Amino acid sequence: MLLSYKYKLRPNNQQSEKLSGWLNMLRATYNWCLRDRMDGWYQQFLCGTYCDLKTQTEIMPLTCSLVKGTQLENPWKDGGGKAKKEGEKDKSPKRSASLMQDANLINLKTSRPWYQDIDCDVLQSIPARVNEAFNKFFKGAGFPKFKRSHYFKSFAYKPGRVKIKGSKIYLPKIGWMRFFNSRNIPNGFDIRTVTIRQKADGWYVSVRIEDKAIPDFSIIPDSEIKSIIGCDMGLTKLVYLSNGETIDNPRFSTNKHIKRLMKVRQRRVNRKQKGSKNRRKAQKKVTTLHHKIQQKREAYQWWVAHKIVGLADGVAVEDLQVKNMMKRCKPVSSETGRFLPNNQSAKRGLNRSIADASWYGLTQKLEYVAVKSGKKLYRVNPQYTSQTCSKCKHIDKVSRNGEKFICTNCGHIDDANIQAARNVRIKAIESYGLTIVRKTRIRAKTVRRDSSKPVQLSIFDVNLYERLVDNKPPQKGKRLVTGNPQYKQLSLWDG
Ligand SMILES: [Zn+2]
Repeated sequence: MLLSYKYKLRPNNQQSEKLSGWLNMLRATYNWCLRDRMDGWYQQFLCGTYCDLKTQTEIMPLTCSLVKGTQLENPWKDGGGKAKKEGEKDKSPKRSASLMQDANLINLKTSRPWYQDIDCDVLQSIPARVNEAFNKFFKGAGFPKFKRSHYFKSFAYKPGRVKIKGSKIYLPKIGWMRFFNSRNIPNGFDIRTVTIRQKADGWYVSVRIEDKAIPDFSIIPDSEIKSIIGCDMGLTKLVYLSNGETIDNPRFSTNKHIKRLMKVRQRRVNRKQKGSKNRRKAQKKVTTLHHKIQQKREAYQWWVAHKIVGLADGVAVEDLQVKNMMKRCKPVSSETGRFLPNNQSAKRGLNRSIADASWYGLTQKLEYVAVKSGKKLYRVNPQYTSQTCSKCKHIDKVSRNGEKFICTNCGHIDDANIQAARNVRIKAIESYGLTIVRKTRIRAKTVRRDSSKPVQLSIFDVNLYERLVDNKPPQKGKRLVTGNPQYKQLSLWDG
C-alpha cells in the first residue's frame, strides 16, 4: 500500500535560507538543461539528420546520427558501449539526452563549487525532471516552459535517503529539522520519495510511505454493492443528493467578503513600485490569502467526501468535462468587422464560480475516500440528466424551468437538481448493471394519547367539550364531558 502524508516543517533561519538557496540553484539548473534540450530539439529542423557543426564534439563524426536531445559531451555510456557485466547485453551504447546531462553535472560542480552543497540525488533529479517534461510533450502535452521563481517550488529526495525520528526529520546535506508531527507514520511502512515544497506560509514535506505486505485497496465487485447514491454538482448548493439532501456551497473565493478583500490586496500590490520590497510584502499578503482559501476549500471537500461516502455502498457522479464548461464565449463580429457583445463578462463570473466549486477536485476526493473505505465511485455520462423525468424517462427540454422540474409527459413535479441526482443514480444502476436492495425502513408510529380529532372552534357554535372518543377521565374540579347529554351543547353564552 502506498500512501502520502504531508507535514509542515519547522526549519530554523539557516535551514530555511539554505532551502531557498537550493531552490534557486536547482531552478537555474532546470532552465539550463531545458535550454540545452530545446536547442537540440530545434536542431533537427535546421540540420536534417546531421549533427551540430558548432559544438564540434570530437566523438561525433559529421555523419553520425545525432542525439537529438542535447549538445553535450559524453554521448557514450561508460566502457564505450560495452556491456558492463559479461553475459548482459547493453542494447544501446549511447546515452540518452537526460543521461548526458546527468553526466555533465560534474562539470557544473567543478565550475561552480557552491553547487557541491546540494545533495547529489536532488541535483540529479533535475535532468530527469526536464526529461519527463519532454516525454509528456512527445505524448501530446504542451511544450516545456522555462520556470520562473514562483513556478519552481519543490525538489525531491530519492527513496531511502530521509530518516524520521519522533518529530524530527533528517534531510541529507541539510541536517535534522523539526516538523509538526500531525500524525504518526504507521508501523511497518517504509519511507519512499520525499518532496520538500515551499508554500505561502512556509515549508512543507510530503512523504510517500509504502508497506508491501499490505495489499492495495481491494476493489469490490459490482455485485456486492447494495445501495448507491447519486450526486449532482451545482453552484447554489455544492452537491444535490438523490435522497433529497443538499450540501451547501460556501464559495470560498467568490463570496462578497473575500472578493472585496482580494481586490483591495491586489490593488495594493499594483500601486507599489515594481521590484520594490514593499511590493514584495504586499504580494505576500495576496499569496497568503490564496493559500488560506485553498486550505479551507480542501478541508471542506474532504469533509463533504466523507459525508457522502458514508451514506451508501456506491457513489454515482457525472463525468463532467469541467475544462470545456469553463471555456470563453466565442467572439461575435458584425458585418463591418466590429466585435459585438457576446456575454463574456457574465460568463467570466460563472467561470470563477465553477473554478471555486472545484468539482473535479471533489470527485477525486470522493473516489479516494470511496476506494479507501471499500466502496466504489461510478462515473456516468452527464447527457440529458437534467432533462429526463426520473419517473417516466421522458426527455424534454421544456420540462425544466430554472429550479423547478415539471414533466411534460406525466406531470411529475420535483426540484430540478435533486431530480438530476436521481437520474444520475438510475443511470449508474442501469449502465453498470447493479442490483440494489431496497431498505424498508420501519417507522415507529407516534400516537398522541390525549386528543382524538382536532376540533374546529367557532365563536358562535362552540362544541368545546364534545368529544366522541373516550379520553382521560376529567380531573377534579372540572366538568364531566363525555357520556352526559346535558353537557353536549354548550355555547359561550350559556352559563
Ligand atoms: Zn414524467
